[in-house]
Amino acid sequence: MTNPLYDALFGRNAGSDAPFLQLPGGDTLTHGGFVELAARYAATLTGLGLAPGDRLALQVEKSPEALAVYAGCVQAGIVFLPLNTAYTPAEISYFVGNSGAKLVLCDPRAEAGLTPVAAEAGAQLLTLAADGTGSFPDAAATAPATFETVARTEDDLAAFLYTSGTTGRSKGAMLSQRNLLSNAEVLVDYWRFTDKDVLLHALPIFHTHGLFVGTNITLLAGGSMIFLPKFDAEAVLANLPRATTMMGVPTFYTRLLAEDRFDRDLVAHMRLFVSGSAPLLAETHREFEARTGHRILERYGMTETNMNTSNPYDGARRAGTVGFPLPGVELKVCDPDTGAELPQGEIGQIEVRGPNVFQGYWQMPEKTAAELRADGFFITGDLGLIDDQGYVQIVGRGKDLIISGGYNIYPKEVELALDEAPGVLESAVIGAPHPDFGESVVGILVPQPGARIDTEAVAARLAGQLARFKQPRKLVVMDALPRNTMGKVQKNVLREQFADAFS
Ligand code: ATP
Ligand code: MG
Repeated sequence: MTNPLYDALFGRNAGSDAPFLQLPGGDTLTHGGFVELAARYAATLTGLGLAPGDRLALQVEKSPEALAVYAGCVQAGIVFLPLNTAYTPAEISYFVGNSGAKLVLCDPRAEAGLTPVAAEAGAQLLTLAADGTGSFPDAAATAPATFETVARTEDDLAAFLYTSGTTGRSKGAMLSQRNLLSNAEVLVDYWRFTDKDVLLHALPIFHTHGLFVGTNITLLAGGSMIFLPKFDAEAVLANLPRATTMMGVPTFYTRLLAEDRFDRDLVAHMRLFVSGSAPLLAETHREFEARTGHRILERYGMTETNMNTSNPYDGARRAGTVGFPLPGVELKVCDPDTGAELPQGEIGQIEVRGPNVFQGYWQMPEKTAAELRADGFFITGDLGLIDDQGYVQIVGRGKDLIISGGYNIYPKEVELALDEAPGVLESAVIGAPHPDFGESVVGILVPQPGARIDTEAVAARLAGQLARFKQPRKLVVMDALPRNTMGKVQKNVLREQFADAFS
Protein backbone atom coordinates (compact mmCIF):
# COMPACT_ATOMS: atom_id res chain seq x y z
CA MET A 1 0.00 0.00 0.00
CA THR A 2 1.34 3.38 -0.85
CA ASN A 3 0.71 6.97 0.03
CA PRO A 4 2.87 8.85 -2.48
CA LEU A 5 3.06 12.18 -0.67
CA TYR A 6 3.68 10.59 2.72
CA ASP A 7 6.28 8.18 1.35
CA ALA A 8 8.19 10.90 -0.51
CA LEU A 9 8.19 13.62 2.13
CA PHE A 10 8.05 11.81 5.45
CA GLY A 11 8.30 8.03 5.21
CA ARG A 12 11.69 8.14 3.53
CA ASN A 13 13.11 10.05 6.50
CA ALA A 14 11.89 7.55 9.14
CA GLY A 15 14.65 6.59 11.55
CA SER A 16 17.01 9.28 10.24
CA ASP A 17 19.19 11.09 12.77
CA ALA A 18 19.76 13.97 10.37
CA PRO A 19 18.51 17.34 11.66
CA PHE A 20 15.20 18.59 10.28
CA LEU A 21 14.22 21.57 12.45
CA GLN A 22 16.75 23.80 14.17
CA LEU A 23 14.84 25.79 16.76
CA PRO A 24 15.57 29.23 18.22
CA GLY A 25 16.35 27.89 21.71
CA GLY A 26 19.10 25.67 20.29
CA ASP A 27 17.06 22.44 20.19
CA THR A 28 17.05 20.29 17.09
CA LEU A 29 14.36 17.90 15.94
CA THR A 30 15.66 15.11 13.71
CA HIS A 31 13.86 13.83 10.64
CA GLY A 32 13.28 10.54 12.43
CA GLY A 33 11.89 12.29 15.51
CA PHE A 34 9.57 14.35 13.34
CA VAL A 35 8.25 11.24 11.58
CA GLU A 36 7.55 9.66 14.98
CA LEU A 37 5.70 12.73 16.19
CA ALA A 38 3.66 12.70 12.98
CA ALA A 39 2.75 9.04 13.52
CA ARG A 40 1.64 9.81 17.05
CA TYR A 41 -0.54 12.62 15.74
CA ALA A 42 -1.94 10.42 12.95
CA ALA A 43 -2.93 7.81 15.55
CA THR A 44 -4.47 10.50 17.78
CA LEU A 45 -6.47 12.04 14.96
CA THR A 46 -7.76 8.65 13.90
CA GLY A 47 -8.63 7.93 17.54
CA LEU A 48 -10.61 11.17 17.64
CA GLY A 49 -12.77 9.78 14.88
CA LEU A 50 -11.27 11.47 11.83
CA ALA A 51 -11.40 9.26 8.75
CA PRO A 52 -9.53 9.59 5.43
CA GLY A 53 -10.98 12.50 3.47
CA ASP A 54 -12.16 14.37 6.58
CA ARG A 55 -10.90 17.90 7.07
CA LEU A 56 -8.86 19.25 9.95
CA ALA A 57 -8.74 23.03 10.32
CA LEU A 58 -5.90 24.53 12.27
CA GLN A 59 -5.24 28.08 13.42
CA VAL A 60 -2.15 27.94 15.58
CA GLU A 61 1.19 29.65 15.97
CA LYS A 62 4.11 28.33 13.95
CA SER A 63 5.75 25.41 15.75
CA PRO A 64 7.31 22.01 14.98
CA GLU A 65 4.14 20.45 16.39
CA ALA A 66 1.96 22.41 13.96
CA LEU A 67 4.09 21.10 11.10
CA ALA A 68 3.79 17.57 12.50
CA VAL A 69 -0.01 17.91 12.35
CA TYR A 70 0.39 18.43 8.60
CA ALA A 71 2.52 15.29 8.37
CA GLY A 72 0.10 13.33 10.56
CA CYS A 73 -2.79 14.35 8.34
CA VAL A 74 -0.97 13.17 5.22
CA GLN A 75 -0.20 9.84 6.89
CA ALA A 76 -3.81 9.35 8.00
CA GLY A 77 -5.31 10.60 4.71
CA ILE A 78 -6.92 13.61 6.41
CA VAL A 79 -7.22 16.84 4.45
CA PHE A 80 -5.08 19.54 6.09
CA LEU A 81 -6.50 23.04 6.23
CA PRO A 82 -4.20 25.64 7.81
CA LEU A 83 -5.60 29.08 8.55
CA ASN A 84 -4.05 32.51 8.85
CA THR A 85 -3.30 33.30 12.49
CA ALA A 86 -4.69 36.82 11.99
CA TYR A 87 -8.24 35.64 11.30
CA THR A 88 -10.91 36.51 13.86
CA PRO A 89 -13.42 33.95 15.21
CA ALA A 90 -16.05 35.37 12.82
CA GLU A 91 -13.73 34.69 9.88
CA ILE A 92 -12.77 31.25 11.20
CA SER A 93 -16.47 30.46 11.41
CA TYR A 94 -16.69 30.83 7.63
CA PHE A 95 -13.73 28.54 6.98
CA VAL A 96 -14.81 25.87 9.43
CA GLY A 97 -18.39 25.94 8.19
CA ASN A 98 -17.36 26.10 4.54
CA SER A 99 -14.88 23.23 4.79
CA GLY A 100 -17.02 21.03 7.03
CA ALA A 101 -13.98 20.44 9.23
CA LYS A 102 -14.45 17.71 11.82
CA LEU A 103 -11.74 18.97 14.12
CA VAL A 104 -10.42 22.45 14.81
CA LEU A 105 -7.04 22.97 16.44
CA CYS A 106 -6.49 26.42 17.91
CA ASP A 107 -4.20 28.34 20.18
CA PRO A 108 -5.27 28.02 23.83
CA ARG A 109 -5.79 31.80 23.93
CA ALA A 110 -8.40 31.52 21.17
CA GLU A 111 -10.24 28.58 22.70
CA ALA A 112 -12.99 30.58 24.43
CA GLY A 113 -13.73 32.58 21.28
CA LEU A 114 -13.78 29.53 19.04
CA THR A 115 -15.81 27.21 21.25
CA PRO A 116 -19.18 28.48 19.93
CA VAL A 117 -17.78 28.49 16.37
CA ALA A 118 -16.79 24.83 16.58
CA ALA A 119 -20.04 23.90 18.33
CA GLU A 120 -22.11 25.55 15.61
CA ALA A 121 -20.22 23.66 12.92
CA GLY A 122 -20.45 20.39 14.85
CA ALA A 123 -16.64 20.19 15.01
CA GLN A 124 -14.44 19.09 17.90
CA LEU A 125 -12.07 21.73 19.29
CA LEU A 126 -8.65 21.03 20.79
CA THR A 127 -5.69 23.29 21.50
CA LEU A 128 -2.05 23.50 20.46
CA ALA A 129 0.14 26.32 21.78
CA ALA A 130 3.31 27.78 20.27
CA ASP A 131 5.39 25.88 22.84
CA GLY A 132 3.88 22.56 21.77
CA THR A 133 1.57 22.15 24.77
CA GLY A 134 -2.23 21.94 24.75
CA SER A 135 -5.08 19.49 24.83
CA PHE A 136 -4.14 17.97 21.47
CA PRO A 137 -0.53 17.12 22.41
CA ASP A 138 -1.89 15.89 25.74
CA ALA A 139 -4.17 13.50 23.91
CA ALA A 140 -1.20 12.42 21.74
CA ALA A 141 1.17 11.82 24.67
CA THR A 142 0.15 8.20 25.09
CA ALA A 143 -0.37 7.42 21.42
CA PRO A 144 1.97 4.90 19.75
CA ALA A 145 4.98 6.24 17.80
CA THR A 146 4.12 4.14 14.77
CA PHE A 147 1.02 4.30 12.62
CA GLU A 148 0.03 2.23 9.66
CA THR A 149 0.05 4.72 6.80
CA VAL A 150 -3.32 5.07 5.10
CA ALA A 151 -3.17 4.17 1.41
CA ARG A 152 -3.76 7.10 -0.92
CA THR A 153 -3.41 7.76 -4.61
CA GLU A 154 -1.96 10.87 -6.20
CA ASP A 155 -5.51 11.98 -7.02
CA ASP A 156 -6.60 12.06 -3.39
CA LEU A 157 -6.82 15.45 -1.73
CA ALA A 158 -4.02 16.39 0.63
CA ALA A 159 -4.90 19.95 1.59
CA PHE A 160 -7.35 22.78 1.30
CA LEU A 161 -5.46 25.98 1.20
CA TYR A 162 -7.38 29.21 1.31
CA THR A 163 -6.14 32.01 -0.94
CA SER A 164 -4.82 35.19 0.65
CA GLY A 165 -8.02 37.14 0.09
CA THR A 166 -6.15 39.99 -1.63
CA THR A 167 -8.89 40.52 -4.22
CA GLY A 168 -11.96 39.35 -2.32
CA ARG A 169 -13.12 36.56 -0.05
CA SER A 170 -10.58 33.74 0.31
CA LYS A 171 -11.33 30.63 -1.69
CA GLY A 172 -10.49 27.08 -0.60
CA ALA A 173 -8.21 25.55 -3.20
CA MET A 174 -8.39 21.75 -3.24
CA LEU A 175 -4.88 20.37 -3.69
CA SER A 176 -4.21 16.74 -4.47
CA GLN A 177 -1.17 14.73 -3.50
CA ARG A 178 0.05 15.01 -7.10
CA ASN A 179 -0.33 18.80 -7.07
CA LEU A 180 2.00 19.08 -4.08
CA LEU A 181 4.44 16.32 -4.89
CA SER A 182 5.00 17.20 -8.54
CA ASN A 183 5.85 20.78 -7.65
CA ALA A 184 8.20 19.82 -4.82
CA GLU A 185 10.05 17.42 -7.12
CA VAL A 186 10.46 20.02 -9.83
CA LEU A 187 11.66 22.71 -7.42
CA VAL A 188 14.19 20.50 -5.63
CA ASP A 189 15.72 19.90 -8.99
CA TYR A 190 15.41 23.42 -10.37
CA TRP A 191 16.80 25.11 -7.29
CA ARG A 192 19.31 22.30 -6.57
CA PHE A 193 18.22 21.42 -3.05
CA THR A 194 20.10 18.60 -1.30
CA ASP A 195 20.34 17.10 2.17
CA LYS A 196 23.18 19.56 2.84
CA ASP A 197 20.85 22.52 2.59
CA VAL A 198 19.81 24.57 5.59
CA LEU A 199 16.85 26.77 4.75
CA LEU A 200 16.30 29.87 6.84
CA HIS A 201 12.53 29.64 7.35
CA ALA A 202 10.87 32.80 8.67
CA LEU A 203 7.63 32.54 6.66
CA PRO A 204 4.26 31.59 8.10
CA ILE A 205 3.23 27.95 7.61
CA PHE A 206 -0.43 28.64 6.83
CA HIS A 207 0.43 29.82 3.32
CA THR A 208 1.74 27.97 0.29
CA HIS A 209 5.11 29.76 0.35
CA GLY A 210 6.21 28.65 3.81
CA LEU A 211 4.25 25.40 3.93
CA PHE A 212 4.60 23.82 0.55
CA VAL A 213 7.45 25.61 -1.18
CA GLY A 214 9.78 25.87 1.81
CA THR A 215 8.82 22.81 3.82
CA ASN A 216 8.02 20.24 1.14
CA ILE A 217 11.24 20.97 -0.71
CA THR A 218 13.32 20.61 2.43
CA LEU A 219 11.58 17.34 3.34
CA LEU A 220 11.96 15.89 -0.11
CA ALA A 221 15.64 16.79 -0.22
CA GLY A 222 16.22 15.57 3.35
CA GLY A 223 17.68 18.94 4.34
CA SER A 224 16.98 21.05 7.39
CA MET A 225 15.38 24.34 8.31
CA ILE A 226 16.25 27.03 10.80
CA PHE A 227 12.67 27.38 11.95
CA LEU A 228 11.99 30.92 13.18
CA PRO A 229 8.54 31.82 14.54
CA LYS A 230 8.31 34.86 12.29
CA PHE A 231 10.44 37.36 10.39
CA ASP A 232 12.50 39.35 12.82
CA ALA A 233 15.51 41.12 11.32
CA GLU A 234 17.67 40.54 14.42
CA ALA A 235 16.95 36.81 14.46
CA VAL A 236 17.50 36.50 10.72
CA LEU A 237 20.85 38.32 10.90
CA ALA A 238 21.90 36.08 13.78
CA ASN A 239 20.95 32.87 11.98
CA LEU A 240 22.02 33.62 8.42
CA PRO A 241 25.62 32.48 9.02
CA ARG A 242 24.30 28.94 9.61
CA ALA A 243 21.99 28.83 6.57
CA THR A 244 22.63 27.98 2.93
CA THR A 245 19.34 29.23 1.47
CA MET A 246 16.51 31.59 2.33
CA MET A 247 13.00 32.12 0.99
CA GLY A 248 11.13 35.32 1.56
CA VAL A 249 8.50 37.76 0.50
CA PRO A 250 9.93 41.02 -0.89
CA THR A 251 9.47 42.87 2.40
CA PHE A 252 11.92 40.45 4.07
CA TYR A 253 14.59 41.61 1.68
CA THR A 254 13.84 45.31 1.94
CA ARG A 255 13.92 45.00 5.72
CA LEU A 256 17.26 43.23 5.62
CA LEU A 257 18.66 45.90 3.33
CA ALA A 258 17.65 48.50 5.91
CA GLU A 259 20.21 46.91 8.29
CA ASP A 260 23.83 48.01 7.87
CA ARG A 261 25.03 44.70 9.26
CA PHE A 262 23.45 42.90 6.32
CA ASP A 263 26.46 42.74 4.06
CA ARG A 264 28.57 40.59 1.78
CA ASP A 265 30.45 38.87 4.59
CA LEU A 266 27.30 37.82 6.42
CA VAL A 267 25.96 35.94 3.41
CA ALA A 268 29.19 34.87 1.76
CA HIS A 269 28.43 31.16 2.20
CA MET A 270 24.74 31.38 1.14
CA ARG A 271 23.92 29.76 -2.16
CA LEU A 272 20.39 30.97 -2.83
CA PHE A 273 17.85 33.67 -1.96
CA VAL A 274 14.34 33.15 -3.35
CA SER A 275 11.60 35.77 -3.48
CA GLY A 276 7.92 35.50 -4.27
CA SER A 277 4.28 36.01 -3.23
CA ALA A 278 4.40 39.64 -4.34
CA PRO A 279 6.42 41.59 -6.91
CA LEU A 280 10.02 42.30 -6.03
CA LEU A 281 10.97 45.84 -6.97
CA ALA A 282 13.74 45.95 -9.56
CA GLU A 283 15.44 48.45 -7.27
CA THR A 284 15.49 45.94 -4.41
CA HIS A 285 16.98 43.35 -6.76
CA ARG A 286 19.77 45.75 -7.77
CA GLU A 287 20.44 47.02 -4.28
CA PHE A 288 20.61 43.45 -2.99
CA GLU A 289 23.19 42.50 -5.56
CA ALA A 290 25.25 45.62 -4.94
CA ARG A 291 25.25 44.93 -1.20
CA THR A 292 25.72 41.17 -1.14
CA GLY A 293 26.88 40.00 -4.55
CA HIS A 294 23.82 37.70 -4.70
CA ARG A 295 21.08 37.98 -7.29
CA ILE A 296 17.71 37.16 -5.74
CA LEU A 297 15.88 34.44 -7.64
CA GLU A 298 12.29 35.54 -8.18
CA ARG A 299 9.55 33.02 -8.86
CA TYR A 300 5.81 33.21 -9.39
CA GLY A 301 3.09 31.04 -7.93
CA MET A 302 -0.19 31.02 -6.12
CA THR A 303 -2.29 28.99 -3.73
CA GLU A 304 -4.14 27.25 -6.55
CA THR A 305 -1.07 26.12 -8.45
CA ASN A 306 1.98 26.16 -6.19
CA MET A 307 4.85 27.48 -8.31
CA ASN A 308 4.49 28.15 -12.03
CA THR A 309 7.59 30.00 -13.14
CA SER A 310 11.07 30.67 -11.86
CA ASN A 311 14.12 32.58 -12.84
CA PRO A 312 16.94 30.20 -13.71
CA TYR A 313 19.42 28.85 -11.18
CA ASP A 314 22.24 29.25 -13.67
CA GLY A 315 21.76 31.91 -16.28
CA ALA A 316 20.39 35.39 -15.91
CA ARG A 317 18.05 36.13 -13.02
CA ARG A 318 16.35 39.16 -14.42
CA ALA A 319 14.88 41.85 -12.19
CA GLY A 320 11.26 42.62 -12.91
CA THR A 321 10.62 39.16 -14.36
CA VAL A 322 9.52 35.88 -12.84
CA GLY A 323 11.53 33.75 -15.22
CA PHE A 324 10.45 30.75 -17.26
CA PRO A 325 7.61 28.24 -16.88
CA LEU A 326 8.84 25.37 -14.71
CA PRO A 327 9.31 21.95 -16.32
CA GLY A 328 5.89 20.35 -16.78
CA VAL A 329 4.05 23.68 -16.53
CA GLU A 330 2.49 25.16 -19.66
CA LEU A 331 1.93 28.90 -19.56
CA LYS A 332 0.18 31.07 -22.11
CA VAL A 333 -0.95 34.66 -22.32
CA CYS A 334 -4.49 35.05 -23.59
CA ASP A 335 -6.98 37.66 -24.63
CA PRO A 336 -9.19 38.19 -21.56
CA ASP A 337 -12.32 38.49 -23.71
CA THR A 338 -11.91 35.66 -26.19
CA GLY A 339 -9.43 33.38 -24.43
CA ALA A 340 -7.37 33.20 -27.63
CA GLU A 341 -3.61 32.95 -27.15
CA LEU A 342 -1.85 36.25 -27.85
CA PRO A 343 1.38 36.76 -29.81
CA GLN A 344 4.62 36.93 -27.84
CA GLY A 345 5.13 40.33 -26.23
CA GLU A 346 1.47 41.26 -25.85
CA ILE A 347 -0.12 41.74 -22.45
CA GLY A 348 -2.97 39.43 -21.54
CA GLN A 349 -4.34 37.01 -19.00
CA ILE A 350 -1.91 34.39 -17.75
CA GLU A 351 -3.19 30.82 -17.93
CA VAL A 352 -1.34 27.75 -16.67
CA ARG A 353 -1.74 23.99 -16.98
CA GLY A 354 0.22 21.18 -15.39
CA PRO A 355 0.29 18.58 -12.64
CA ASN A 356 0.56 21.46 -10.16
CA VAL A 357 -2.84 22.95 -10.99
CA PHE A 358 -5.46 22.45 -8.27
CA GLN A 359 -8.65 20.39 -8.38
CA GLY A 360 -11.07 23.29 -8.03
CA TYR A 361 -12.47 25.54 -5.34
CA TRP A 362 -14.18 23.68 -2.53
CA GLN A 363 -17.94 24.00 -2.85
CA MET A 364 -17.70 26.77 -5.43
CA PRO A 365 -18.62 24.97 -8.67
CA GLU A 366 -19.42 28.18 -10.52
CA LYS A 367 -16.20 29.88 -9.58
CA THR A 368 -14.30 26.71 -10.44
CA ALA A 369 -15.99 26.49 -13.84
CA ALA A 370 -15.26 30.17 -14.51
CA GLU A 371 -11.54 29.90 -13.77
CA LEU A 372 -10.60 26.33 -14.60
CA ARG A 373 -11.10 25.56 -18.28
CA ALA A 374 -12.29 22.16 -19.47
CA ASP A 375 -8.90 21.60 -21.15
CA GLY A 376 -7.13 22.01 -17.78
CA PHE A 377 -5.86 25.58 -18.13
CA PHE A 378 -6.35 27.71 -15.03
CA ILE A 379 -7.07 31.39 -15.53
CA THR A 380 -4.79 32.90 -12.92
CA GLY A 381 -6.31 36.37 -12.76
CA ASP A 382 -2.86 37.86 -13.33
CA LEU A 383 -1.94 39.92 -16.37
CA GLY A 384 1.44 39.56 -17.97
CA LEU A 385 3.51 38.98 -21.05
CA ILE A 386 6.27 36.75 -22.31
CA ASP A 387 9.23 38.84 -23.42
CA ASP A 388 11.52 38.26 -26.39
CA GLN A 389 13.81 36.08 -24.30
CA GLY A 390 10.99 33.90 -22.99
CA TYR A 391 10.87 35.44 -19.52
CA VAL A 392 7.45 35.98 -18.02
CA GLN A 393 6.66 39.43 -16.69
CA ILE A 394 3.68 40.06 -14.43
CA VAL A 395 2.11 43.44 -14.97
CA GLY A 396 -0.55 43.15 -12.27
CA ARG A 397 -3.86 41.56 -11.50
CA GLY A 398 -6.80 41.65 -13.86
CA LYS A 399 -8.89 43.14 -11.08
CA ASP A 400 -6.43 46.02 -10.70
CA LEU A 401 -6.55 46.98 -14.36
CA ILE A 402 -7.79 50.55 -14.78
CA ILE A 403 -10.07 51.42 -17.67
CA SER A 404 -10.22 55.16 -18.17
CA GLY A 405 -12.17 56.68 -21.03
CA GLY A 406 -12.04 53.29 -22.76
CA TYR A 407 -8.26 52.96 -22.47
CA ASN A 408 -6.55 50.17 -20.53
CA ILE A 409 -4.02 51.36 -17.99
CA TYR A 410 -1.70 48.83 -16.37
CA PRO A 411 -0.90 50.14 -12.89
CA LYS A 412 2.56 48.56 -12.92
CA GLU A 413 3.71 50.74 -15.82
CA VAL A 414 2.70 53.89 -13.96
CA GLU A 415 4.14 52.58 -10.68
CA LEU A 416 7.52 51.92 -12.31
CA ALA A 417 7.61 55.50 -13.56
CA LEU A 418 6.59 56.87 -10.17
CA ASP A 419 9.17 54.73 -8.34
CA GLU A 420 11.92 56.41 -10.37
CA ALA A 421 10.93 59.89 -9.19
CA PRO A 422 13.21 61.59 -6.64
CA GLY A 423 12.36 60.78 -3.03
CA VAL A 424 9.92 57.97 -3.90
CA LEU A 425 10.49 54.62 -2.19
CA GLU A 426 7.50 52.85 -3.67
CA SER A 427 4.08 53.52 -5.07
CA ALA A 428 0.67 52.06 -5.77
CA VAL A 429 -1.58 53.07 -8.61
CA ILE A 430 -5.31 52.46 -8.51
CA GLY A 431 -8.42 53.46 -10.41
CA ALA A 432 -11.09 55.56 -8.69
CA PRO A 433 -14.56 56.24 -10.09
CA HIS A 434 -14.59 59.33 -12.31
CA PRO A 435 -17.74 61.03 -13.62
CA ASP A 436 -16.41 61.52 -17.18
CA PHE A 437 -13.93 58.70 -17.69
CA GLY A 438 -15.51 55.89 -15.74
CA GLU A 439 -12.30 55.55 -13.80
CA SER A 440 -9.28 57.72 -13.41
CA VAL A 441 -5.84 57.22 -11.96
CA VAL A 442 -4.76 57.83 -8.37
CA GLY A 443 -1.08 57.47 -7.49
CA ILE A 444 -0.11 56.79 -3.89
CA LEU A 445 3.51 57.56 -3.06
CA VAL A 446 5.63 56.42 -0.14
CA PRO A 447 8.71 58.57 0.54
CA GLN A 448 12.21 57.19 1.05
CA PRO A 449 13.29 57.47 4.69
CA GLY A 450 13.84 61.13 5.50
CA ALA A 451 12.78 62.33 2.04
CA ARG A 452 10.03 64.82 1.21
CA ILE A 453 8.09 64.22 -1.98
CA ASP A 454 7.13 67.20 -4.13
CA THR A 455 4.00 65.85 -5.83
CA GLU A 456 3.93 68.69 -8.35
CA ALA A 457 7.46 67.90 -9.45
CA VAL A 458 6.55 64.22 -9.73
CA ALA A 459 3.52 65.08 -11.86
CA ALA A 460 5.62 67.32 -14.12
CA ARG A 461 8.21 64.59 -14.53
CA LEU A 462 5.57 62.02 -15.47
CA ALA A 463 4.09 64.36 -18.06
CA GLY A 464 7.22 63.81 -20.12
CA GLN A 465 7.11 60.04 -19.72
CA LEU A 466 3.58 58.74 -20.00
CA ALA A 467 0.59 59.41 -22.23
CA ARG A 468 -1.82 61.90 -20.73
CA PHE A 469 -4.51 59.32 -19.93
CA LYS A 470 -2.06 57.24 -17.87
CA GLN A 471 -0.89 60.12 -15.71
CA PRO A 472 -2.40 60.14 -12.23
CA ARG A 473 -4.96 62.90 -11.83
CA LYS A 474 -4.33 62.75 -8.15
CA LEU A 475 -1.08 62.07 -6.29
CA VAL A 476 -1.07 61.47 -2.57
CA VAL A 477 1.74 60.74 -0.13
CA MET A 478 1.33 58.05 2.53
CA ASP A 479 3.76 56.72 5.15
CA ALA A 480 3.30 53.12 4.07
CA LEU A 481 1.11 51.04 1.76
CA PRO A 482 -1.46 48.75 3.39
CA ARG A 483 -0.17 45.19 3.19
CA ASN A 484 -1.48 41.83 4.33
CA THR A 485 0.60 39.24 6.19
CA MET A 486 2.16 37.97 2.97
CA GLY A 487 3.44 41.44 2.12
CA LYS A 488 0.87 41.96 -0.63
CA VAL A 489 -0.36 45.49 -1.23
CA GLN A 490 -4.08 45.61 -0.50
CA LYS A 491 -5.34 47.63 -3.42
CA ASN A 492 -8.95 46.97 -2.47
CA VAL A 493 -8.27 48.86 0.78
CA LEU A 494 -6.77 51.75 -1.20
CA ARG A 495 -9.67 51.73 -3.66
CA GLU A 496 -12.12 52.06 -0.79
CA GLN A 497 -10.07 54.82 0.79
CA PHE A 498 -9.90 56.83 -2.43
CA ALA A 499 -13.35 55.97 -3.77
CA ASP A 500 -14.38 59.63 -3.64
CA ALA A 501 -11.16 61.04 -5.08
CA PHE A 502 -12.93 62.44 -8.14
CA SER A 503 -16.47 62.98 -6.95
P1 ATP B 1 -6.91 36.06 -3.58
O1 ATP B 1 -6.81 35.06 -4.68
O2 ATP B 1 -7.74 35.55 -2.45
O3 ATP B 1 -7.29 37.42 -4.03
P2 ATP B 1 -4.01 36.10 -3.58
O4 ATP B 1 -4.13 35.90 -5.05
O5 ATP B 1 -3.13 37.21 -3.11
O6 ATP B 1 -5.45 36.25 -2.91
P3 ATP B 1 -2.17 33.94 -3.13
O7 ATP B 1 -2.54 32.67 -3.76
O8 ATP B 1 -1.49 33.93 -1.83
O9 ATP B 1 -3.50 34.75 -2.92
O10 ATP B 1 -1.26 34.80 -4.08
C1 ATP B 1 -1.06 34.53 -5.44
C2 ATP B 1 -0.85 35.81 -6.20
O11 ATP B 1 0.32 36.48 -5.71
C3 ATP B 1 -0.60 35.63 -7.66
O12 ATP B 1 -1.80 35.42 -8.40
C4 ATP B 1 0.10 36.93 -8.02
O13 ATP B 1 -0.83 37.98 -8.23
C5 ATP B 1 0.91 37.23 -6.77
N1 ATP B 1 2.33 36.83 -6.92
C6 ATP B 1 2.95 35.73 -6.47
N2 ATP B 1 4.25 35.74 -6.79
C7 ATP B 1 4.46 36.90 -7.47
C8 ATP B 1 5.61 37.51 -8.08
N3 ATP B 1 6.81 36.96 -8.02
N4 ATP B 1 5.42 38.70 -8.71
C9 ATP B 1 4.20 39.27 -8.75
N5 ATP B 1 3.10 38.76 -8.21
C10 ATP B 1 3.23 37.59 -7.57
MG1 MG C 1 -5.45 34.76 -6.15
